[in-house]
Amino acid sequence: MLSTRARTLPASSTAALDAHVKSLLADGADVVNLTGGELDFPTPDQACDGGRQAISRGLTRYTPVAGIGPLREAVARRLETHWGCSYAAAQIVTTNGAKQALAQLFTVLCDPGDEVILQAPYWVSFPHMIRLAGATPVVVDTADTGFKLTPELLRAHITPSTRVMLLNNPSNPTGVVYDRQELLALARVAVEHDLVIVSDEIYGDLVHEGATFTSVASLGPDIAERTVTVGGFSKTYAMTGWRIGFAAAPLPVAAALTAVQGHTSSAPSSISQYAALAALTGDTDVELARRAAELNTRRTLMRDGLAALPPLRLAAEPQGGFFALVDVRGLYRHPDDDAGTVARDLLEHAGVAVMPGRDFGAPDLVRLSYAVGAEDIAQALHRISTHLKTINDRRIP
Ligand code: PLP
Repeated sequence: MLSTRARTLPASSTAALDAHVKSLLADGADVVNLTGGELDFPTPDQACDGGRQAISRGLTRYTPVAGIGPLREAVARRLETHWGCSYAAAQIVTTNGAKQALAQLFTVLCDPGDEVILQAPYWVSFPHMIRLAGATPVVVDTADTGFKLTPELLRAHITPSTRVMLLNNPSNPTGVVYDRQELLALARVAVEHDLVIVSDEIYGDLVHEGATFTSVASLGPDIAERTVTVGGFSKTYAMTGWRIGFAAAPLPVAAALTAVQGHTSSAPSSISQYAALAALTGDTDVELARRAAELNTRRTLMRDGLAALPPLRLAAEPQGGFFALVDVRGLYRHPDDDAGTVARDLLEHAGVAVMPGRDFGAPDLVRLSYAVGAEDIAQALHRISTHLKTINDRRIP
């Protein structure tokens, strides 16, 4: 019954593992879950009030496909004030999560056979979205360049079919943040080769001490005019379930996105749009700063804890978002072991659930989320440490 596209599309492995771990927990298993992609913070009160008021005021009808005017204006204003990008409200399309913005973008930007350059390790959904749109993902291994695409690597992968350079900054799963000069150098190559830049900046507000976030579209008008900035409310405001994201795009791209969305899902939930508007216009800055400080503490706990657990090796300094990527090759015992073997071992024998990297294009790495509380992080590190000692003792004759 299935099309080739559907037959070859695996279900999201990250969502599947997260669901498996949650069902183990529901059955009473003693597991610290570090697989998740959502912060444990609650949605800010201002946003919840905005949603509640939308319901009580009967704002429960279809809205314009690209979203209500005040929300599009508020998103444009925030992009200007926080990230230095100048998009007009007409260039903002609100979507059912950043995920929908990204999925629709590849349909809008690519014809069958067009190529999209992205780096590995990548967010698990990128290659599938690109293929569903009929385009081809061209994956660039960045293990030797600090998990960053470089102008040299980019140039080496450009062909006459290349349409899009896809960036994810800060990155899931590497936690790496590009600096301004690195982004400028990449953007110049994109300009030279007439590529569209799609920049997934959903973690742009979650950058830790020691790193500075730069939005690609802030780098100059010649770059902004070919850049689509994707963002959302899931991470910054801990609003994963509300499903609100956006694309800020050159006008023809925004219009085409709106047309695709109009014929598929229509606008995102009106209630969620009003909640998002309240998150942006309410006084959330103090609370967001408190959360950023807490996330920074968790990052440091995770980073320093992992550094003390050889043979595990932190693959990159986590600078933004809430993931640490760890090289687990030191734990392999058989030639066919991979990060999946280690992840299974940690789940079964240490009671710690981590995400193996195969589906991120990183078969020797596991991803640990520090979106959970400090106590859980400390407990997970303690369990892993005890497990490593047990393995070591077994190895000593
Ligand atoms: N982009 C990246 C890199 C992500 O990690 C995620 C969520 O995990 C998303 C986009 C999608 O976010 P949402 O659809 O919840 O806005």
